[in-house]
Amino acid sequence: MANKITVGHVHMSGCTGCLVSLADTYEGLFKILDDYADLVYGLTLADVRKIPEMDIALVEGGVCLQDHESVEDIKTTRQKAKIVVALGGCASYGNILRFARGGQQNQPQHESYVPIGELIDVDVMIPGCAPTPQQIRNVVVMAYLLLKGTDDQKALAAKYLKPMMDLAKGSKEACFCDLMYDVINQGLCMGCGSCAAACPVRAITMEFGKPNGQRDLCIKCGACYAQCPRSFLDAALLEQYEPITELIQGAMATK
Ligand code: SF4
Ligand code: SF4
Repeated sequence: MANKITVGHVHMSGCTGCLVSLADTYEGLFKILDDYADLVYGLTLADVRKIPEMDIALVEGGVCLQDHESVEDIKTTRQKAKIVVALGGCASYGNILRFARGGQQNQPQHESYVPIGELIDVDVMIPGCAPTPQQIRNVVVMAYLLLKGTDDQKALAAKYLKPMMDLAKGSKEACFCDLMYDVINQGLCMGCGSCAAACPVRAITMEFGKPNGQRDLCIKCGACYAQCPRSFLDAALLEQYEPITELIQGAMATK
């Protein structure tokens, strides 16, 4: 199909779990690569050395401020990509990288890591550690519709992507209490600790396997809520979009 979009995977500092999740889409990934997107960049997936122009950059990991090459790479990514997606918790919120204090054996000078939104504008955030294969696939397909679809398809894609675009704009209102009301008090918390890892001001500690928030420290950034696997996932919305490949095949067949 000639009218494909171009997608790149830009790997900053992370554990590669998001890339594994992307690859885990199996048939979904092949379908995307066959019909909707050309992979034009990816350190482990494509033999391309310089970051090229692309429609969508899926950025995994946070940025080490002491690594000037990484800082340049993320700025170049912003210049070259129409849509920058923060893929996963580290790119979106720093996540476990927030705990880095330097002294690692190979590169002891690397002591501070930030989510990519602290250095560049981000268009879409997919929180999660790692995001599900289904989420990644859907975002790529929806971005395809946003860039190449009819007016109706663009409207559908904008509706699907809006919550993740809102996350990228940041929050000044969502506090730990939202997590308390919607997840912990509902008995939905499974004690994974993702909320504590995501909190940039260490307002959350895990006590007896459950998160405890210090409200006087909370800066209302919403990171804990977005990272919690029991809060952000709207199962009803996912079900609505689950037959997504059929939807697109049908839509594109009418072109
Ligand atoms: S500061 Fe911490 S507790 Fe408050 S909303 Fe952000 S992540 Fe949650
Ligand atoms: S991220 Fe959600 S499920 Fe995990 S410990 Fe925090 S509140 Fe519980």
